[in-house]
Amino acid sequence: MAAARPSESRPISTRCCIVGGGPAGMMLGYLFGRAGVDVIVLEKHADFFRDFRGDTVHPSTMQVMDDLGLIDDFLKVPHDKLQKLEGCFGKTRLRIADVSRTGATYPYIAFMPQWDFLNFLRDKGRRFPNLKIMMNTEATGLIHDGDRVVGVRAKDTGGELDIRADLTVACDGRHSIIRQSAGLEIEEIGAPMDVLWFRVGKVGETESMFARIEAGKMMVMLDRGTYWQCAYVILKGRYDEIKARGIEALRADVVALAPPLRSGIADVRSWDDVKLLTVAVNRLEQWTRPGLLCIGDAAHAMSPVGGVGVNIAVQDAVAAANILAAKLARGAVSEDDLAAVQRRREFPMRMTQAMQVIVQNNIVRAALKAGSGPFKPPLLMRIVNAVPWLQGLTARFIAVGVRPEHVHSPEALPVSS
Ligand SMILES: Cc1cc2nc3c(=O)[nH]c(=O)nc-3n(C[C@H](O)[C@H](O)[C@H](O)COP(=O)(O)OP(=O)(O)OC[C@H]3O[C@@H](n4cnc5c(N)ncnc54)[C@H](O)[C@@H]3O)c2cc1C
Repeated sequence: MAAARPSESRPISTRCCIVGGGPAGMMLGYLFGRAGVDVIVLEKHADFFRDFRGDTVHPSTMQVMDDLGLIDDFLKVPHDKLQKLEGCFGKTRLRIADVSRTGATYPYIAFMPQWDFLNFLRDKGRRFPNLKIMMNTEATGLIHDGDRVVGVRAKDTGGELDIRADLTVACDGRHSIIRQSAGLEIEEIGAPMDVLWFRVGKVGETESMFARIEAGKMMVMLDRGTYWQCAYVILKGRYDEIKARGIEALRADVVALAPPLRSGIADVRSWDDVKLLTVAVNRLEQWTRPGLLCIGDAAHAMSPVGGVGVNIAVQDAVAAANILAAKLARGAVSEDDLAAVQRRREFPMRMTQAMQVIVQNNIVRAALKAGSGPFKPPLLMRIVNAVPWLQGLTARFIAVGVRPEHVHSPEALPVSS
């Protein structure tokens, strides 16, 4: 189904067009640029400064930065370190993971606003003349030549664009319009929860606590220096009911769960200050079409459980560059090459989603559905808390992940014609 190009579209031609400047797209753009591949990254927003962004940089991602020789500069970007993941389950404080026991070179989780992480990659990528990042540019669909994807239609402030590429990579996240345009089949796994996302100002010293869980309530608090970024977890489909109770009732629930937030809770003035983030867990059966590869959340939407999604997206990008960069710098890649990326990444992704689903269904759902009264932490959590080496195991799974990737893609490979 060859599609005609609208006459007013501005034509652009490149070796690779990456749709989406999130962790997957920016890392892949950097790696392809570094390998001498002619690459364009399209990002529909004008900047990376958006409120909802996972902030957790795991040891696996810091190892990638180390492989790239970027780690010293990267660690100069302001961040907080977390080694021991602890939560308050009712009145009981439990340790569920200890990253210092993983043996990783960077044995902690770095909490860094994601816009800083993405800006860092963009700044470091400026030295690659063949890497072009087009902000404010939204992909609107694919261009086909028969069964083959041969590029992307997009629009920017100047109008329509017709971007021809030997390879298109969908990194446009869980609502990917690229995977939709390609007609790729999605297996929905589902999630029992959604998240209310809001800020509470810090007033004076407040105790640092990552997660708080009580019967019927759950919240994760990210320390962003001057304020707490709160992720208040609700049962899926209950938003309207919670909203109908009024903002006062939400504020009261939050303070009951996390008393140190009392002094700053007035920052949540109205429902305009509260964003509903819908959680999805799903995956594509096939990540590829001729000329097209999907990675990151576009291939497999990750739950927030474990804060792994950003890091899995980075790992996908590293694997894709390891397999494709050298070939792409010389010419187009084959369908087998693209399929090799899925083969490499599918097992780690499935294992991680399986872990997320176990936690979602057995801990998150159980806590949110529990009636009032004292909340007893699940047995598994009590065992992990009691056995320190198990905290190293849980931390390894969360922070290092299954089959971590190292960078093997070439640097500045000369592009032959
Ligand atoms: C509530 C919630 C909390 C989470 N918290 C964490 C956490 O703390 N840590 C963590 O590691 N993971 C977290 N995750 C998971 C994580 O957000 C994702 O797994 C991760 O962001 C995936 O990265 P990505 O690059 O594949 O996609 P995204 O981060 O979704 O990036 C996609 C990019 O594509 C752009 N885009 C979309 N459509 C187009 C288009 N048509 N044209 C051009 N650009 C486009 C978007 O603007 C965006 O910049 C959370 C998920 C949820 C739902």
